[in-house]
Formats: sequence, structure tokens, C-alpha cells
Amino acid sequence: MTEGNHRNCSEKKICANHGIIPKKELILLILLLGLTLFIAGCDTGNNNVNNGNGEVVSEEDEDQNNGEETGENSNDEDTEDEDPDDEGIDQDEADDEEPEAPQTLADELGIQETDQTMYTLVAIPYREDPIHEAEVLGEISAKEPVEVTGTVANGWIQIKRDDSPAYIHQAFLSEEEIETFTWGTGQMEEEMVILSDPEDIEAIVNKQIALTPDFHPEDLVQPEVPWAEVSNFRYMRREAAKALEDLFAEAAEEGYTLLGRTGYRSFEAQENIFINFVNNHGYEEARTFSAKPGQSEHQTGLAMDITADSVEGRLTSDFGSTEEGQWVSENAHLHGYIIRYPRNKEEITGYIYEPWHLRYVGVDLATDLYESGLTMEEYFGQIK
Ligand SMILES: [Zn+2]
Repeated sequence: MTEGNHRNCSEKKICANHGIIPKKELILLILLLGLTLFIAGCDTGNNNVNNGNGEVVSEEDEDQNNGEETGENSNDEDTEDEDPDDEGIDQDEADDEEPEAPQTLADELGIQETDQTMYTLVAIPYREDPIHEAEVLGEISAKEPVEVTGTVANGWIQIKRDDSPAYIHQAFLSEEEIETFTWGTGQMEEEMVILSDPEDIEAIVNKQIALTPDFHPEDLVQPEVPWAEVSNFRYMRREAAKALEDLFAEAAEEGYTLLGRTGYRSFEAQENIFINFVNNHGYEEARTFSAKPGQSEHQTGLAMDITADSVEGRLTSDFGSTEEGQWVSENAHLHGYIIRYPRNKEEITGYIYEPWHLRYVGVDLATDLYESGLTMEEYFGQIK
């Protein structure tokens, strides 16, 4: 029984008390009245009470506007009392909440369903949730076709594995059956797979995933920054160049003068450099600090080697302990840059610590990488 009906009943009771009626008869009358109201529908329905009391109905019309919010029930509730309206709203809220309640991280992030076959670039683990901390369920080998069932908002891909959903990052997938190409001659010959989307600012280029000789970024510009004397290769992609200008300008405001040294290098330029290093240091040593052609981030137009006068404009690990190098390591991410080859991650990146090599990945990813302390390979899940 609702409050509204109580109010109607008690109004009638008060009217009865205003009459001159003996107490016993009053009790009987009340009982009779109660029975009458019961039969009239005071307890079984509200329409009669409302219809019999215009003022109450008109007072409650405003409240009945709530019915409009309650969707399909609103027609029924238009003829009901205010309190059933409230019940209706509660019921509807409960109905609304149930399907929206997140079941898994993937649901929370939102999945756009797709149905297509894609191919892995390299051997990668697949995980139980679309996040790099999630548990590894198994590994998919390189160049294997995978059944993609959805894309998740954060760049992860939902796949079907052993009839259950699993997740890998799109950085390691290609829409087309992937190519391999072989670089070098003689003992240097080695197979690499081709990066599927070299224009992507989050693209991974490493010793497993390479760019083709004919990949040239379209929007190369020269950033307006101070340059080291020996600098050449002064171009970067437009977005990265702007971010570099902002980074250097902020450093200058803090009293640190950074110098640009090496930006975009073509496949051919990298080839010449690598062969030169091999001739001077031998192949195995050269591989630890110089990328083979196609494997260099400098070919993406998103990398810049930087230095400072405090290390005479050289590219040296000493740069990391200079004031300029320290400042860069703490602030680069705010402008979308990361130290791509950090200390103690040589086994993962395949390169020695290079505090001078900055890679543009955008502020969001750079911040995630800075805060997590992960390399791109770890973050995107190439490494278990
Ligand atoms: Zn570099």
C-alpha cells in the first residue's frame, strides 16, 4: 500500500471524525469504510481513488511526468498514483543498469566486433585481457593467420583462440599475408618481416619488424632547433618535428640547450652506415649499436638523436648523466618522446643503452611507457 493511498484514506477518516458520531459506531463506521474502500479498490488499484478526488490527481500530474523517463511503462503509469511511478522508475533504473555493468576489461574498454583473418608479424604471446599486464595464455607463431573477432579501443585486438576470446596488440598484426625480405649479402643475410603500417606513430620497428627499402615518409620537414656542428639528416615527420621544437624550447626555458643531430635516414643511407660500421667493428658488434637497413627507426621519420655541448655534440652514453640528458629523460614524454633504448633493457630492445636516441610515439603512449618503465616491445606484448 502506498503513501498516497494512506493519505486518501486518512482524509476520509478525518471527514468522518468531523461528524457527530458515537465512539463504537465510529469504530464500526471506520471498519465499514475500510471495507468499502477495499472493495472500491483502495488497495487493489489506484484509479478509482484518483478519479474520485480531482485535487489529488491534479497535484500528482506533475509527478506523473516522471513516467516519461521510464520508457515503455509510462503509458501504464499515466493512470497511476505517484508512488507506483516511483516504483516504476526504480524498476527501470535496475533494468538499465544490468546490461551496462562491465563484465570484463574488454567490455569496459568497448569492443567493436569484426570478423576477419589477419596475420602475425612475429611470434607473440596472447593474453586473457587487452592490457600488457594481463596473464599470457599462450603464444602464436610468426606469420600465422588469426581469427580476429573485435577491436578494443586501446589498440588491442580480440581474437578467437581455442574457442575463447584472447587479446594481442594490433602492432603485431598485418591485414595481408605478410611478406618477408632478405637484406644483405653473404654471412649477413637475414630474414625480416615487413611492418604493416609504417605511417602509424606507434609503429614498432625493431630487429624482427622492418620497413621496406621504398618506404619514405611523405611529410618530412626540418625542425627549427639548434643543431650539433656535425649534424646531418635534419628532417623528421611534421608531427614529430613540432613536438621536438616544443621539447627543445621547454628545455631552453629551464636553462638546458639541447642539440639535434640525426633525424630521418633513408634505407640507402642506413645501408651505407651499417656497412661502414661492419667494416670497422665487425658484424656482431655493429649489430648492437647500429640498425641494419629497414630496421632503423630513423627511416620512420619519427626518431631524432640528440646531444649537447657538455658532451661535445657526441652520441655517447655519457649524455645520460649530463644535466641535459637527465632533464630529457624526465620530460621527453610530456612532448610525446621516449628514450627508445633504455638502460638494462638491452636483451629486450636488442640495443645498448642509448640516452640520445629519442623516438616520437605521441603523448599518450610516451606517458604510459614513461610511467610503466616498459619498452615498446614489453608494452605491446612482444615480450612475455
Ligand atoms: Zn638513433
